[in-house]
Amino acid sequence: MQPTIAQVALPIPLDKCFDYLVPNYLFPVIGGRVSVPFGRQTLTGIVVGLVHTSDFPIEQLKPLKSCLDTQPVWPQPLYQLLQWCSQFYQFPLGDTLAMALPSLLKKGKPADFASLKQWHITEAGKNQLASGFGRAHLQAKVVRMLENGSLSHQAMIEEDISSSTLKTLQEKGWIEAKHTQPKKAQWPTELENSHLKPQLNEEQAIAVATINNHQGFGCYLIDGVTGSGKTEVYLNLIKPVLDKGKQALVLVPEIGLTPQTINRFKRRFNVPVEVMHSALNDTERLNAWLSARDKNAGIVIGTRSALFTPFADLGIIIVDEEHDASYKQQDTLRYHARDVAVMRGHKENIPVVLGSATPALETLHNAQTGKYHYLNLSKRAGNAQAATHHVLDIKGLYLEGGLSAPLIAQMRRHLTAGNQVMLFLNRRGFSPALMCHECGWIAECKRCDAYYTFHQGSQEIRCHHCGSQKSVIHQCQGCGSTQLVSVGVGTEQLEKQLELLFPEYKTIRIDRDSTRRKGSLENALDAIRNGEYQILIGTQMLAKGHHFPNVTLVGLLDVDGSLYSSDFRASERLAQLFIQVAGRAGRASKPGEVLLQTHHPEHALLQSLLHKDYQHFAKTALTERKMAQLPPFTFITLIRAEGNDNDTVEAFLRQVRHTLEANPLYDEHCLVLGPMPAPLAKRAGKFRWQLMLQVSTRPLMQRLLASSKPVIQLLPLAKKVRWSVDVEPQDLR
Ligand code: ADP
Ligand code: ZN
Ligand code: ZN
Repeated sequence: MQPTIAQVALPIPLDKCFDYLVPNYLFPVIGGRVSVPFGRQTLTGIVVGLVHTSDFPIEQLKPLKSCLDTQPVWPQPLYQLLQWCSQFYQFPLGDTLAMALPSLLKKGKPADFASLKQWHITEAGKNQLASGFGRAHLQAKVVRMLENGSLSHQAMIEEDISSSTLKTLQEKGWIEAKHTQPKKAQWPTELENSHLKPQLNEEQAIAVATINNHQGFGCYLIDGVTGSGKTEVYLNLIKPVLDKGKQALVLVPEIGLTPQTINRFKRRFNVPVEVMHSALNDTERLNAWLSARDKNAGIVIGTRSALFTPFADLGIIIVDEEHDASYKQQDTLRYHARDVAVMRGHKENIPVVLGSATPALETLHNAQTGKYHYLNLSKRAGNAQAATHHVLDIKGLYLEGGLSAPLIAQMRRHLTAGNQVMLFLNRRGFSPALMCHECGWIAECKRCDAYYTFHQGSQEIRCHHCGSQKSVIHQCQGCGSTQLVSVGVGTEQLEKQLELLFPEYKTIRIDRDSTRRKGSLENALDAIRNGEYQILIGTQMLAKGHHFPNVTLVGLLDVDGSLYSSDFRASERLAQLFIQVAGRAGRASKPGEVLLQTHHPEHALLQSLLHKDYQHFAKTALTERKMAQLPPFTFITLIRAEGNDNDTVEAFLRQVRHTLEANPLYDEHCLVLGPMPAPLAKRAGKFRWQLMLQVSTRPLMQRLLASSKPVIQLLPLAKKVRWSVDVEPQDLR
């Protein structure tokens, strides 16, 4: 009997699916797209069930409008993974599925290769170029852009050339449009350019053999210093996967996806390599997605969201720089691509390889407890050399925009020698501590053994652990000085100061905001390599994947902010940043130097970093986490809320707290902290509060959240504020 009712997940923020009648001329499939009426709109949804009964009266159900697919959109394991994500991250299924679709499919376009509109120059256009365009500068520019080859329509739009300009030129006969259909590629018999292969060293060989000799799912951590040949290991793992006719997925951090990285894979292998990142246009994205699904592509390299690419036959997942914070999505479905990659490997029964020079403490813990296999690469493969490092004690020194006189002097020395200087600022400086500039004393909550967070706006200091607060103090309780400073400087202030101090040198800032546009990061990196800029200001993201041979001095300005942050991960991030920059600056003939400015040169973390290594630091930090009952020894969920009225937001979270505590599953293994103001307590006029749930096991946390969320949704205040659930947050803001 044909099912009469389709359960459809729609891209709307509601935790439920909708029932539709299946007309007898339509044949929906589970996991396929359908077009349905919803209110006055028509929406594209995914069929998640085909049944015969509904909780609603049949006569009230509307019929499906049309079926868009005859096959499920995703292979079965990926479809299951998305359902798992929706549950684990407490995010509606319809929204989760929609997020994983290329936007053309979301809009109901067929799941087929879309043709690309390419613009070409005509003979008439070439003649016109020779005779000139008079005052039609824009038209001249466009025709000249095509002089050396065609460009896609999208590429033109991205260069701010409007459709109407193109149309005008087309009408004049100077340019023409052609539609090209992407070809289906055949994998060649010679998959690898083996003459490019170096002989593996012993540690590399062990890593490759360990992983290749294993069948089915397994998770491997490759803990290898920068330049130890992790990428070479990845290439050696991909080879046998391709030999078996299977495909490989390589995830890289946002900034790691550059032509150099991609070329390494393209040069080595003769199979098509698809690149997936946020700057692809809709057509490019759909085509890359289909290329993986239909096994055109042998390798897909991409950032976080590439994790949801469908594959005909996936054989391995590699997550490079697995510690990188950009793997965690900070809005909508707040997934962690590394963690979900492990789950995907499990569902697809294939190996997952995590690589880093500075593994996340969570990952190291998983390796130590035997959940992941641990593989170490301790030797540098090339002739790269680690930078030297020094601590600058800045107690009592005057700081200009965050720069101490000794650092400024060193900068001048390196700049005068024709080298580049890189300065790191911690942008997590929203939660600065209040510190005495004379003696380094820091305002501390006596009840929590934690530092107070300084709130500039309200002139208060607050403890983010117990919520206690008082108005800002003006005198040091250690030495009596009134020179109290908040630790943390903004990039703007720093940029201004650099202009004053070094007017003859050019400064460039590289962060997520300044590199959002397609190609802007590549351009910036090229400009840096060509020496167009002498001073680089970076955030964490500049520390990975790039070697800057002419950067011989790296300054970490804001070390104390990380040592005394209310975010328990701040010190881990500082350690990672330090190790990463020390491994990437300079080169054998021009060794790099790293300077850390701090009021606390004696701090145990700094000492262990400077005199021991990352592994030693990690051991100490994990012991601290265990004592403090913090992740990875417990599991955290952050419930955030914001709204126009401060009291309403707080009241809502207080009700959420009561809901959680009243849940029958809530026991001595659970703890709720807050509500407390978010470290950034007000943003864009909205008051922000948060509530932290800490549970000793993952399953208990999952069950507690799953059974509490429907109750929370029914709270009357839930409609008066914007709120979200962040399961296992990376960022406590
Ligand atoms: P990582 O990914 O750990 O930073 P890479 O794989 O990029 O390291 O290796 C660093 C450099 O050393 C690269 O230029 C690479 O080609 C080279 N290399 C890697 N493995 C070997 C090897 N076994 N023999 C010689 N050179 C190697
Ligand atoms: Zn406290
Ligand atoms: Zn003091």
